[in-house]
Amino acid sequence: MSLLRQPLLLVSRSELVKNLVSTMPISAGIVNSYVPGESTEAAVDATRVLVDNGLKVTLDFLGEDTLDQAQAEATVAAYVDVLKQLAVDGLARSAEVSVKLSAVGQALPQHGDKIALEHARTICRAARNAGTTVTLDMEDHTTTDATLATLRELRKDFPETGAVLQAYLHRTEADCRSLAYEGSRVRLCKGAYKEPESVAFQSRLDVDKSYVRCLKVLLAGQGYPMIASHDPRMVAIASSLASRYGRAQGSYEYQMLYGIRPDEQQRLADSGETVRVYIPYGHEWYGYLMRRLAERPQNLSFFVKSLISKK
Ligand SMILES: Cc1cc2nc3c(=O)[nH]c(=O)nc-3n(C[C@H](O)[C@H](O)[C@H](O)COP(=O)(O)OP(=O)(O)OC[C@H]3O[C@@H](n4cnc5c(N)ncnc54)[C@H](O)[C@@H]3O)c2cc1C
Repeated sequence: MSLLRQPLLLVSRSELVKNLVSTMPISAGIVNSYVPGESTEAAVDATRVLVDNGLKVTLDFLGEDTLDQAQAEATVAAYVDVLKQLAVDGLARSAEVSVKLSAVGQALPQHGDKIALEHARTICRAARNAGTTVTLDMEDHTTTDATLATLRELRKDFPETGAVLQAYLHRTEADCRSLAYEGSRVRLCKGAYKEPESVAFQSRLDVDKSYVRCLKVLLAGQGYPMIASHDPRMVAIASSLASRYGRAQGSYEYQMLYGIRPDEQQRLADSGETVRVYIPYGHEWYGYLMRRLAERPQNLSFFVKSLISKK
């Protein structure tokens, strides 16, 4: 992990920094390169451009750690709205949604898990009506068990619901084994949160080794692996493992974030691979932006310059 990653994630929690950065217009260079806009319309427009180029999409209405019921409900309404719009525009076959349970009530002080489950169910129903699917994003390790329990409940009625597992957690190889069954869509990522040594690998090498072990389990299994990484080595290893396990193109997919390695996204799609781009949108872009900057401190000087020039 980069030396700057953990300090940056800590600084990002400062209210002062948050107020300063959140008042930047979304069009400020660095923000806009990771988040196409704040509205449903902006999200659907960005989706259309990618789909026209042969890519698939998953949309994330930004917002996490919601501690108020009204905000959780507003998030559900935003998902229902975007799903309807995708259907109207004929994009729902190529675009699904990604949902953070903490954005729909998981962190509420009372009955959070139950409220989040009901809200997620509403989104799953809207997705099915639109002709598409939902994937539950994975957040920090304190929520892993609850998120997987919610996934199990949702899959009783909506077996197409996707899961996310994070290779940096010690437990994940075992979770991959449990979820590598037929029809099970599983996104494998490295993991984006600051996690303690007791639960997570800390060095880049150990995380990468775990990622490869998990890839083997998922690609050898019966499910539908969604390989979420920008790392050229992980993409190359996934490709050779897919051949080794006799996986045809389309029986798994690659996923990358909006604005990160777009040329590689297009190259993979042009070579016949299924590639899905994760598009975050909405006004709550601060936490998302900070995690991306923490992963890529080279972008920091660019970011600070754009901050100063807007003030
Ligand atoms: C589709 C998708 C969904 C995700 N969902 C989740 C989730 O639910 N929960 C979760 O914890 N994490 C999630 N993540 C984030 C993930 O866990 C990692 O934090 C993130 O993808 C960086 O890891 P990496 O595999 O790309 O490799 P890294 O080793 O971080 O990066 C490899 C290379 O990718 C390029 N790169 C990486 N990041 C950037 C950047 N910010 N800007 C420019 N170039 C960059 C660089 O060339 C870098 O050398 C998701 C990632 C993707 C792609």
